[in-house]
Amino acid sequence: MTCQVLRCSDPVAHVETVRQQGPDNWQVDAVFCASHWAQVQDGAEWTMDYQHEIQQTVILMGEDLPPQLVKANYRQHIAIDSVETTLVLRRHDGTEDVVRFDIPKDKLREYLNANIFRTAAEDD
Ligand SMILES: [Zn+2]
Repeated sequence: MTCQVLRCSDPVAHVETVRQQGPDNWQVDAVFCASHWAQVQDGAEWTMDYQHEIQQTVILMGEDLPPQLVKANYRQHIAIDSVETTLVLRRHDGTEDVVRFDIPKDKLREYLNANIFRTAAEDD
C-alpha cells in the first residue's frame, strides 16, 4: 500500500480513520506517507476526493485543494428570473479568481435545500 495523496507513491507511514457522526455513520481510512503525515501534523489542510478518471479515492493537499470562497455578492435581476452571482475564489498559492454567473431561481432553491451541513440532531 502506498500514500493516497495525489501523485505520491511513497510507502505508508500512517493510517488516519475519519469518522462522520450522523445518519450514515460512515468512516474512511486515509493513508499517508511519513512526509505527508508530517505536513498534516503541522496543520496542512487535506480532503479526500473520488477521481473518476483513475477510479480511485485520493487525498488532496496544497494546490490540489479546491480554491476557497473569500467573497460573494448576489444581485437579483429585474426582468430575468435569476440571481447574478459574483464569487472571489482564492487558490492555495494566494492568487484569486473572480467568477460571475447567473443562478436560475429553481437551481438556487435546489442548492439551498441540499442539506450539506445536516447534523444528527436535525434528523430526529
Ligand atoms: Zn505521500
